Amino acid sequence: MKHYDTIIIGGGPAGMMAAISSSYYGLKTLLIEKNKRLGKKLAGTGGGRCNVTNSGTLDDLIAGIPGNGRFLYSVFSQFDNHDIIRFFEENGVALKEEDHGRMFPTTDKSRTIISALDAKIHELGGTVLTNTEVVSVKKFDERFHIKSKYDEFTCDKLIVTTGGKSYPSTGSTGFGHDIARHFKMEVTDLEAAESPLLTDFPHKKLQGISLDDITITYDKYVITHDLLFTHFGLSGPAAQRISSFVKGGKTIFIDFLPDKSKTDLEKYLQAEREKSVKNALRGLLPERLAEFLAEDLADKVKQLSAKDMGDLLENIKNYPIQVTGKMSLAKSFVTKGGVDLKEINPKTLESKKVPGLHFAGEVLDINAHTGGFNITAALCSGWVAGSLHY
Ligand SMILES: Cc1cc2nc3c(=O)[nH]c(=O)nc-3n(C[C@H](O)[C@H](O)[C@H](O)COP(=O)(O)OP(=O)(O)OC[C@H]3O[C@@H](n4cnc5c(N)ncnc54)[C@H](O)[C@@H]3O)c2cc1C
Repeated sequence: MKHYDTIIIGGGPAGMMAAISSSYYGLKTLLIEKNKRLGKKLAGTGGGRCNVTNSGTLDDLIAGIPGNGRFLYSVFSQFDNHDIIRFFEENGVALKEEDHGRMFPTTDKSRTIISALDAKIHELGGTVLTNTEVVSVKKFDERFHIKSKYDEFTCDKLIVTTGGKSYPSTGSTGFGHDIARHFKMEVTDLEAAESPLLTDFPHKKLQGISLDDITITYDKYVITHDLLFTHFGLSGPAAQRISSFVKGGKTIFIDFLPDKSKTDLEKYLQAEREKSVKNALRGLLPERLAEFLAEDLADKVKQLSAKDMGDLLENIKNYPIQVTGKMSLAKSFVTKGGVDLKEINPKTLESKKVPGLHFAGEVLDINAHTGGFNITAALCSGWVAGSLHY
């Protein structure tokens, strides 16, 4: 039976970075991944381009991690988003910044990021075993015993980076929660987060329209970000962010033009009064949305009654949409809930009950907004879990 100083279960961003730091600290390290390739979920982020981190400040990071972001203060004091950027630059991967601080490889290819992480593990002497699903973990004689279908390994330090339970087809099926429960550690309730919204709405008319920086308001929550109309409802970062707060049966309000007041809009429309309403709106909004908002109104702007003008302005600034529910946990981008943080030392990410057992990434009860915040949490916590703490 082969013995390692460190074994890491799960080759997503958290596991790959844990393998890099463990190897960097000179520990004999094995990373085990059940898929054929490392980083299957990571590969699909940012529309396949890999939204590897976010360039924001520490405050931005914490605000971007609404699910227990504050727990990560100690992690970020050891390794943060700027260390991620430096890491890739030092390892030959040029990054670029896009809207909302989102960072991508300049190649626009996830493979660039995953290959760089994989190469670094090997350069530092770590071992990667893919196509290998861990089926049981036990601890006896002061060692962890890790079994896959065909192999058995032992290690002194075990790092669990198996992810949450969203998009299980990428490999994240909740195995790490079972490991925690096996060691009598608490796991908080798992729920969908960053979930597309199901809505009661004429989807067909607007399906496929994507809008930059609209504002969604629900109760006291106001989110300004991009939105996508789909065949089932609303997706994109704005819908996903508000999904943490809104439930089926509630109404959200969309401001399609948050930079313009009703007064600005009325002035604009009056200047275009000889045009059809549809054509006037096309100057501000995508064509199909303009047609949708102009439906049932008089043809020309100059023919609009005061009430119709008022209703049109209200629809542009405050369009109500009834939410009927959200996507299931499996179809949501992120899992809310996970290994209870009360069980975990925030400096080392080691279990308080089981010496040598560490957790990092989405398996923990930490959830963030898309836009690079989950990946930042995963990479930074992975680095810390793999590090030696003197
Ligand atoms: C479509 C989509 C888009 C997203 N976009 C963004 C985005 O733009 N920005 C952002 O911040 N976040 C985004 N996320 C979320 C982000 O991808 C995850 O939070 C992140 O990948 C979590 O990293 P992780 O390493 O903790 O877990 P994962 O990436 O889930 O990796 C866990 C790994 O463990 C392996 N594993 C599990 N069980 C076993 C076992 N028994 N044996 C061996 N291996 C095992 C799995 O196969 C998997 O490869 C997105 C998610 C999805 C689904």
